[in-house]
Amino acid sequence: MPSITNEKMRQLVNKYEQNVIEIRRDIHMHPELSFQEKRTSELVASKLEELGIEVRSGIGKTGVIGILKGSRPGKTLALRADMDALPLDEENDLPFKSVNAGVMHACGHDCHTANLLGVAMILSEIKNELCGTIKFIFQPAEENGGGGREMVKEGALKNPDVDAIFGLHVKQMPLGTIEVGHGNIMAYSDRFILRVKGKQAHTSNPQQGVDSIVISANIITALQSIISRQIDPLETATFSVGQINGGTAPNIVPDLVEMVGMIRSMSKNTREIIKNNIEKIAKSVAEGMSGECEFIFKEGYPAVFNNKEMADYVKELAIERCQDIKDDLDLQLPPEFDLKELVRITDKPSLGAEDFGFYSLEVPACFFYVGAGNQAPVHSPKFMVDERMFKVSLNLLSSVAVKFLNQNSITI
Ligand SMILES: [Zn+2]
Ligand SMILES: [Zn+2]
Repeated sequence: MPSITNEKMRQLVNKYEQNVIEIRRDIHMHPELSFQEKRTSELVASKLEELGIEVRSGIGKTGVIGILKGSRPGKTLALRADMDALPLDEENDLPFKSVNAGVMHACGHDCHTANLLGVAMILSEIKNELCGTIKFIFQPAEENGGGGREMVKEGALKNPDVDAIFGLHVKQMPLGTIEVGHGNIMAYSDRFILRVKGKQAHTSNPQQGVDSIVISANIITALQSIISRQIDPLETATFSVGQINGGTAPNIVPDLVEMVGMIRSMSKNTREIIKNNIEKIAKSVAEGMSGECEFIFKEGYPAVFNNKEMADYVKELAIERCQDIKDDLDLQLPPEFDLKELVRITDKPSLGAEDFGFYSLEVPACFFYVGAGNQAPVHSPKFMVDERMFKVSLNLLSSVAVKFLNQNSITI
């Protein structure tokens, strides 16, 4: 089936861009926390219905899935956006500033949701020229709670079975740039709790107690050897004790300390080594000092794995569109600038986490970044995007979908 020309795609992007910006501003003004995205998911469902797209709501609590069929048989492609906001007070002075106190779209999920609705508008208009099926996955709770896990558990990748999935994230990078990599691009991220138990005593008689603070200090020191002595130096991993609480008064030997930390690792094997060693060392140190230690492991998000073939779809299309991106955004670049440099190939994974990892565990996937300007970074109360980025994100995600589906048509 012939593909959509670059020119046609640019026309479609121009046609829907303003609508997408309006939707984004509406969502930005009414942010909702993880698993509370009621208004947002209703808005998404109604926009999809307006397009005549089959809608399934209430998946993973507040998730929404739209299913669009092309005119010929083919593969099923999923495109994913996240809908939730963060517990922050917005410090931007905008006409569409958050009206919900203490809640703000500071990670750009308003943009991801609006963008995917825009892609749904574009692909609906050209559905007669598409092979296969597109699943638009709007998930809740990326920030807190693993909405992606719930969506997968509730069958988001089944019926029809998804052959590949793409997702994107806005990033504090120059407008017009795109970043993509393959392999593990983000880390496993898990939480652990260490509960150190001792025995209370008066500090004038420490021999009558078991000091949980002294034990904890020794545990923290002993844990530092895990990365340097248990992990292959060529592997990437880190962990930190980020919270420590214990004691009630300066003159009491405390009987309880609780420490909470995060482990970030690039492979399942490294994750296991760190997890097992934290438990072993913490328990042995505590026992050796006459105390006890309870270890609790809270599994978080799996690493995001970009399949090479899927990442190449994004990379090749992005490189192909560099001239259009420059023209559409009116980028002022020095004459010697090689336009291909707008596409950054990540060779360095990030130890950040994303629950897109739950999808990339199941099907070939690619998660990429679109430059949203150089304003404040994500998770900041001043986070802001340059909305001209929609020209890039709408075009690229729609083009990736068209290319994937039409290259994988099924002849009958
Ligand atoms: Zn975030
Ligand atoms: Zn995010």
